[in-house]
Amino acid sequence: MVRTRIAPSPTGKDLHIGNLYTALINWAFAKKNKGKFIVRIEDTDRQRLVLGAEQQILKTLKDFGLEPDEDPEKGGPFSPYRQSERLNLYQKYAHQLVEKGFAYYCTCSKERLEKLRKEQQEKKQIPRYDGHCRNLNLSRVDLEKKKIPYVVRLKVPKDKKITVYDLIRGEIVFNSNDIDDQILLKSDGFPTYHLAVVIDDHLMQISHVIRAEEWLSSTPKHVLLYQAFNWPLPVFCHLPILRNPDRSKLSKRKNPVWASWYLKEGFLPEAVLNYLALMGWSHPKQKEIFDLKEFINVFDLKDIQVVGPAFDPVKLEWLNGEWIRKTEDSKLKEKILKYYKNYQNKKLDPKLVEKIIPLVKERMKKLSDFWFYCQFFFEEPKVDANLIKNAPYLKDIYRSLSTIKDWTTQNIGQSMQELAKKLGIKTGDFFMTLRIAICGKKISPPLNESMEILGKEKCLERVKRIMKD
Ligand code: GLU
Repeated sequence: MVRTRIAPSPTGKDLHIGNLYTALINWAFAKKNKGKFIVRIEDTDRQRLVLGAEQQILKTLKDFGLEPDEDPEKGGPFSPYRQSERLNLYQKYAHQLVEKGFAYYCTCSKERLEKLRKEQQEKKQIPRYDGHCRNLNLSRVDLEKKKIPYVVRLKVPKDKKITVYDLIRGEIVFNSNDIDDQILLKSDGFPTYHLAVVIDDHLMQISHVIRAEEWLSSTPKHVLLYQAFNWPLPVFCHLPILRNPDRSKLSKRKNPVWASWYLKEGFLPEAVLNYLALMGWSHPKQKEIFDLKEFINVFDLKDIQVVGPAFDPVKLEWLNGEWIRKTEDSKLKEKILKYYKNYQNKKLDPKLVEKIIPLVKERMKKLSDFWFYCQFFFEEPKVDANLIKNAPYLKDIYRSLSTIKDWTTQNIGQSMQELAKKLGIKTGDFFMTLRIAICGKKISPPLNESMEILGKEKCLERVKRIMKD
């Protein structure tokens, strides 16, 4: 049974776009293998905890359509799925490790450790624990009786090769001498990431640990823990880290990194996921546009490339535009209505949206472009008088428009063409004036069509409003 998971820490505003990528791969791999996709919240770092982050993360996953099969809200066979609610489990296993000789109690004070760190830094050594308590065989009963605070540390064996097998990177060998005697359980009874992740992945029967490359260097510690517990290893797979087009690490300073930002900006979830699927992987037929169903069918975890792929917002915008064009008008209407309701607090008239879609679908790259092009259908435009630059022929326009009986795109176009010719005004200038009068700006959907949809009365009103007497 394939069981995958993501294990986000609720320490930011939302799910990072890189985590969304990890979620996508985990979700798709589980679906492909008729397995389960689990979300576990790793909230043991109490100092960095952000209120509301967990809810936001779960909401974002839902908004993108990556529904977990088990998570802290809906529960599942291995509840709870929030690490802060599993503390006694970690404590139990930590003490077990000490009993078996794979870990030890350490009572070194903060001051001692700080001093040690400074000395090592001065000698240009990598800061690490010096093993002071490693062979003291401190007794838990004693420590607790005397109320001496302690931590549990991993007793990393000396001179040992630790082999990590990674599904896409192959075999990676680490030297145990490079690994610190990691703290597993802190003095407040909270586990560190390393202990909790191994216990939970085992107890939750995770078959494939698919996570970002940044965790690769932690994996030998995890392997030691699995061995100490005598538990079978899951399959490890470390995904490449997304980069900016200039190869720097994706960071808040250069690109928006919160996944929900892309939805607020008017990207379609299916387009964002399509783009993320292309990170470090390509479709066997080199297709760039495909849906999740197809992705699940054709992708193979092993084909993901390890070199950090570039996440390029410009390319994403292009792809999003393609997705908009690929979406049927009736579905696009629903998406536009939902987007403006949820993110812009606007209730748009569905009938009007439906009529306008054919005029703008070709140019839209994001759902937010709809308003950019079409605001004037819903609100009176504010016309900048400077743009109209003294156009006495607005009166003629008004007159001609009022004589049109059958208010159709064709009749409007014909009547305006004839008028421009009669007055001897360059069509470019003439139609720009008309466009600004009607739409309030220089860029708009096709003008005659827009005027037909707006209706005769509204168009006449708009021209009249800016006519000079
Ligand atoms: N809590 C870690 C994170 O924030 C999980 C890493 C892992 O998947 O093991 O990404």
